[in-house]
Amino acid sequence: MSSESESAIVSWENHHFYKNCLDVMRIAGQHIGMDPNVYQRLSKPRRVLYVSIPVRMDDGSIKVFDGFRVHHNTTLGPAKGGIRYHPEVNLAETSALSMLMTLKNSLVKLPLGGAKGGIRCDPNKMSRREKQSLTRRYTSEVFMLIGPDKDIPAPDIGTDAQTMAWVMDTYSSHLGYAVPGVVTGKPIEIGGSLGRVDATGRGVVYTVVEAAKRLNMEIGESTTVAVQGFGNVGYYSAKIISGLGCKVVAVSDVSGGVYNSRGLDINAARTWLNEHRSFDGFPGGDKITNNELLELKVDVLIPAALSEQITKENADRVKCRILAEGANGPTTIEANEILNDKGIFTIPDILANSGGVIVSYFEWVQGMQSFFWSEKDVNNKLWEIISHAFSRVYDFHQAKKIDMRLSAFAVSIEHLSKAMLARGFFP
Ligand code: NAD
Repeated sequence: MSSESESAIVSWENHHFYKNCLDVMRIAGQHIGMDPNVYQRLSKPRRVLYVSIPVRMDDGSIKVFDGFRVHHNTTLGPAKGGIRYHPEVNLAETSALSMLMTLKNSLVKLPLGGAKGGIRCDPNKMSRREKQSLTRRYTSEVFMLIGPDKDIPAPDIGTDAQTMAWVMDTYSSHLGYAVPGVVTGKPIEIGGSLGRVDATGRGVVYTVVEAAKRLNMEIGESTTVAVQGFGNVGYYSAKIISGLGCKVVAVSDVSGGVYNSRGLDINAARTWLNEHRSFDGFPGGDKITNNELLELKVDVLIPAALSEQITKENADRVKCRILAEGANGPTTIEANEILNDKGIFTIPDILANSGGVIVSYFEWVQGMQSFFWSEKDVNNKLWEIISHAFSRVYDFHQAKKIDMRLSAFAVSIEHLSKAMLARGFFP
């Protein structure tokens, strides 16, 4: 096995992020008297598929990429979760992310299980043709796992509506007819849902509004916001929250960020990033590093990039009032403790970023019925589900005097456990 593949096939047994998710699940489980057999079952993914993906690169050479598809749990319905293209993708991280998908779907009571997929690659260094070949071959290799009744992928870091269109087309070509329900987050023209592209960011903002109500905090001109990551989740979170009148004072991407105490023009920042591929030279603000952004004194901090960004090393310097986790797993369990001690109100990932999978679920339902909803209907239904989930988590947090993360995990596990125990297991 090449050393590259060895780095990809990392066991979850000793992986920090995987163990972090397990620890939160175990501790949260204690608050609902979780059945130890349920914990045992949930502590490992149901199935994992490793695939090697040969791609002819533009220079004529063939490069073989490592990829995965993991089903964590399918008790509640077909597996559901994104596909990530990133150089650090590995089996343990993909498995941890699939576990978070199980818990997220259960928390918002969707009839879906948890999955995740990924390819270890750098999409920023690949041409459109190379990415298309990579996506089509990956789809072909994971064909036996995916399908509208089995496992429905969606975009994640490094993938977008175009990627989903290629997955859908490849899957449909194998079967000989169009199967829009095999993916969500696809373009509107081939069965995508209105409101899906901004759904995760919109959901993040909806949960911030709910949190602010509970904390008697104003959401408006006096509210300052910083957003780490300016892709799908970061950009739409920033855009939607600035639409509520809030001042987004800092945004960033992988190359660093920009800061302006008077508030940034989000559309101008987006246009600049599209044209220049980094915030360097952006005239609307001053340069800032990703670490500095996380430590700004703001009302709302939205990490919307990678996992494990707020750790025991920097948690003490985080100064926001509300931490809304747009990304999956941005805060380590050790950092969570420090943030609690500082009185920071955290809206955990499985709640804050659940808007994406909620509207993905709507897209799947619309596709199965071939009956499409208006954007207003989509956003209203998203609001209904996410604000209801927020209330359940908040009430449990108040009743049990535990933090919002443990509360969200506990509320989710309670629902899932009942379903698992009702179904039992085979044989
Ligand atoms: P994306 O690829 O559209 O954007 C990722 C952003 O993060 C980019 O701006 C990139 O430059 C930035 N980034 C990458 N590495 C970074 C680093 N080291 N430091 C700072 N910024 C960095 O991805 P996305 O879909 O917006 O996903 C972002 C996060 O949100 C991920 O954790 C993902 O799992 C989570 N999420 C996404 C969705 C969705 O619907 N897309 C749903 C739920 C959760």
